[in-house]
Formats: sequence, structure tokens, C-alpha cells
Amino acid sequence: MDHPTASALDYTARDYTASLPAADFIARFRDAERIAGYCRACPNYGRSWACPPFGFDLEEYLSGYATALIVATKITPAREGLPFSEAGRLIRPERVRHERLLLDMERRYGGRAFAYAGTCLYCPAGECARIAGKPCRHPEWVRPSLEACGFDLCRTTGELLGIPLRWSGDGLLPEYLTLVSGFFHNERTVEWEG
Ligand code: SF4
Repeated sequence: MDHPTASALDYTARDYTASLPAADFIARFRDAERIAGYCRACPNYGRSWACPPFGFDLEEYLSGYATALIVATKITPAREGLPFSEAGRLIRPERVRHERLLLDMERRYGGRAFAYAGTCLYCPAGECARIAGKPCRHPEWVRPSLEACGFDLCRTTGELLGIPLRWSGDGLLPEYLTLVSGFFHNERTVEWEG
């Protein structure tokens, strides 16, 4: 689905979804050891409560759900040649939209939401309470990403949704950016109402 308000922000956004048994998603797309290695190499590792290492057991966290709903939003800049530093500005409204919908779905269905990897939306950049050894200020809003739980998002978007991830090679935004979220649940069906 396209979001008309988004074009006013100089991009268009289109959502893609896939639903599959959670056990299949875990078996096919989770590569916990390899992905954990990427997380350990990231400057956010251990410095944000949205990032690993987590104070809970990940296997347990992912268990007990029948279905995985995966959502990817393809964000296409309205013009070529924007610097890569614009990525956060283009992604942020879509992250806000995803996280609002995901938390609403948790309230309605009792499932488990997975948000975007990287910086947290709810405190100023570089001010996560974890840096000072303090508890998260908004645990009711913060959810880990699928990536932080060991899922390979490159294969997930490419194989499940037909969206190969694109990277910046020259300091400019790629053709499009991709935002990925997930929702594990035990309902018969859950629609993404984006
Ligand atoms: S809400 Fe604040 S304290 Fe909690 S994870 Fe996000 S940045 Fe850190």
C-alpha cells in the first residue's frame, strides 16, 4: 500500500507482507551465531536496551507462537542523488508508523512485536539509559528487531518478499531503503493495517 502523505516528505512508501508458520520462519531465516557476530561488531552493542545482549532467553522469547507476519516497507526517495545522511529522516516517519501499529497489534492480539534495528525512537540519540547502567525509560514501547534476535533480514526480504536489500556505495542513498518489522502471534489471521 502506498501512503499519500509520504510523498509530501519527498519519498513514497509501499508495504509488503508475508505470513508463514513461525517455526518455518525460524528454521529458514534464523542464523543466530552469524548474526550475533554482526551485532557484537556494532557500536550500539550493549549500549542500547533495544540491542543485544538481552537480559532474557532469546529461544524462549521466540517460542510459543504459531505464525510470523513479516512486514517490509520499501521507501523510495522522490529524486536521485540525495546524500546518505538523509536516510534517517526518510525512515523515521515510517518507523513511527510501524511501531505504533505493532504496539497496537500486541494490545489487540497478545502477540510479540519486532521493530527496527538501530537507534531507538524514544530518547535523544546517544542518550540511552543503558550507557549509564540505568533501566530503560520506556520498556512499554521498546521492542527488539528481528535482526537482534538472529534473523537474516537480507534473505528474509529477498526470498520472502522479493525485495533485495540495497546499499549505499557512493555516499548517496540507494534506489530505495527497506524497513523490516515482524509480529509473532497465535490468531487465525492478522492483517497488517498499514
Ligand atoms: S527508550 Fe531510551 S532508555 Fe529505553 S532503549 Fe530506547 S533509548 Fe534506551
